Amino acid sequence: MQSESETSVRLRFAPSPTGYPHLGNIRTALFNWLFARHHGGKFILRIEDTDVARKVEGAVEVILDSLRWLGLKWDEGPYFQSQRLPIYREIAQRLIEEDHAYLCYCSPERLETMRREQAKRKQPPKYDRHCRDLTQHEKTQLEATGIAPVIRFKTPLEGKTTFYDLIHGPVTFKHDVLDDFILLKSDGYPTYHLANIVDDHLMFISHVLRGDEWLSSTPRHVLLYQALNWQAPQFAHLPMILGPDRAKLSKRHGAITITEYQRQGYLPDAMINFLTLLGWSLDDRTELLSQEELIKHFSLERVGKTAAIFNRDKLEWMNGVYLRKLSPGEFVRQAMPFLDRDLPESVERPLNSTYVNQVLSLIQERAKTLAEVSQLASFFFLEELKYDTGLLSSGKLAAEPAARTITIASQKLEEVTTWDATTLEDILRPLATELNLSAGALFGLLRVAVTGRTAAPPLFQTMAVLGKKKCLKRFDAALQLLSTYLS
Ligand code: GLU
Repeated sequence: MQSESETSVRLRFAPSPTGYPHLGNIRTALFNWLFARHHGGKFILRIEDTDVARKVEGAVEVILDSLRWLGLKWDEGPYFQSQRLPIYREIAQRLIEEDHAYLCYCSPERLETMRREQAKRKQPPKYDRHCRDLTQHEKTQLEATGIAPVIRFKTPLEGKTTFYDLIHGPVTFKHDVLDDFILLKSDGYPTYHLANIVDDHLMFISHVLRGDEWLSSTPRHVLLYQALNWQAPQFAHLPMILGPDRAKLSKRHGAITITEYQRQGYLPDAMINFLTLLGWSLDDRTELLSQEELIKHFSLERVGKTAAIFNRDKLEWMNGVYLRKLSPGEFVRQAMPFLDRDLPESVERPLNSTYVNQVLSLIQERAKTLAEVSQLASFFFLEELKYDTGLLSSGKLAAEPAARTITIASQKLEEVTTWDATTLEDILRPLATELNLSAGALFGLLRVAVTGRTAAPPLFQTMAVLGKKKCLKRFDAALQLLSTYLS
């Protein structure tokens, strides 16, 4: 009788800690997680850390942090392959005993010369199977030299391997392109191929969902499963993610680490929604889907065969949508650490939370990322604004009438006792007519004076939050600036 784990849906994310996870890696994790959740299966985390030379310090922590940040909870693991070495050695040994593998004593120098020769003859680099059929005498002699051998797989010399890919359909590779690949390196560590299939088998993985770049490894894996008389899991190779120019995703386009997206103020829910649409779609139209909806609808039938195109503008737009959906309180909670981090040091800490609440109620509608919040809101917090005098006078109003207008507005506002947006509007709107100015020109001028910019949240609400004292002080500062033009 089969145990439950042998029959159920079991997916795994198997990153190598050779770098920090980027979009492509996490999209793979996400599709595995969605598939597992959709089928009520298990999501397993396995760290494939057998490439000692390429191991990056701290990468494992960043991988775990990225998954945690996105809420992709794993049910088992993390398993570390580096802690399972005896298992792979035993299987490699078994493959030798059953004549599916052999010891290879070729020195790096010999292999290098062989590769150079092949390049000269314009042949693809491929091990020439020099050690495949050594006699017992030759083996004993080579062993005596003390060279540490590697273990290679005996790929069938002829024929082909076909497997069924859940996204691509049947895929065939001829054996003559495959090579006698290494299973166990001379340092005793397994290669990716060996450790990967041994663990997928021992961990009862039912489905392997991974990037298209692994497709050419799969016939090797299928051959290994056959040699070991194990049943292979089902395979699904996910489409690549390309930049808008259809070239490999570059840093500029988004090949940055997931933690960098976190630093830039993207929300996990927005990232999950966005990443799922990189390769999967519900109906080619629907863009916004909650996590529950994604889990409910996710299926491999709707994963594309062709590359997905990364579009940063879409990610920003989507993040803005998710930011606007937050309750005001939640938005403040999320934005506060970013304000703390990014506002200039001159702004006194701790920030006043009542004031922050008022400010952020005007910013929530406008921010596309949390990192943008401080930039949009900084003028609310700074003591003095720095801006180009030209913003006050070069536009619709020259310096002299600009100064006059600000002076009159300032005098009127001086008398205001109830400082709220409605009162301010009731006073300032008629002023435009009084001064024979368009509302746009007057409000534009005042906006620059109180915010130092031409684009900001609605003027009266902004002034209401800033408070009377600050606004009048800023009018004075604007007059000071203009006076340099007038003298
Ligand atoms: N360790 C491989 C990686 O880093 C896993 C590939 C696979 O899923 O088989 O992507």
